[in-house]
Parts: sequence; C-alpha cells; structure tokens
Amino acid sequence: MICPNCAAMGRRSDGVCYNCHQPFPSGLRRQTVMAWFAAAFALITLVAVILIVPIRSAADIGASLCVGTCLASATASAGALMGWILGTIICEH
Ligand SMILES: [Zn+2]
Repeated sequence: MICPNCAAMGRRSDGVCYNCHQPFPSGLRRQTVMAWFAAAFALITLVAVILIVPIRSAADIGASLCVGTCLASATASAGALMGWILGTIICEH
C-alpha cells in the first residue's frame, strides 16, 4: 500500500511505514470489504447448493460441486458489487 503520510510504498503487513515510521491506517478499506463480501457470498452459495442438492451417489457430489462453483462465482461477483457499494459508504479511503 501507499503511505498516506509520505506516499512511500510499503507493505500493509508491516504496520508502519519504513520511510516516515508512521503507522498505516487500520480502518476498513473498500477492497477489504469487497473481498470479504465476495468470499462470504461464494461460500454461502456453495454450502447452500451442497445442502439443497440431494446427494445419493458420487456423481451427485460432482454435479452439486460443479453447479455450486458456477453459482458461487456468480454470487461472488454480486457480493463484490455489494461490497464496493458498502465500502464506498463506510470507508474513508
Ligand atoms: Zn510514510
């Protein structure tokens, strides 16, 4: 990430800027919210499909996983969009 103080490039995991030694802001960022929403939506969809589709054989597991993954990627996009909107509202950066 870029330090808001001196614009030096730094790693977020470091916590502080190597250049000006100021701590990085720990507030929620839009990208973080987007990633969390996308992941949550994808996971919920996958679990829901696996729970809804009756599994009687190994082929059913494969089919439900296939459908689940397809739907999960679709809902992940929707989740990312929601996260983007929410991130715009709640994030300062
Ligand atoms: Zn700095």
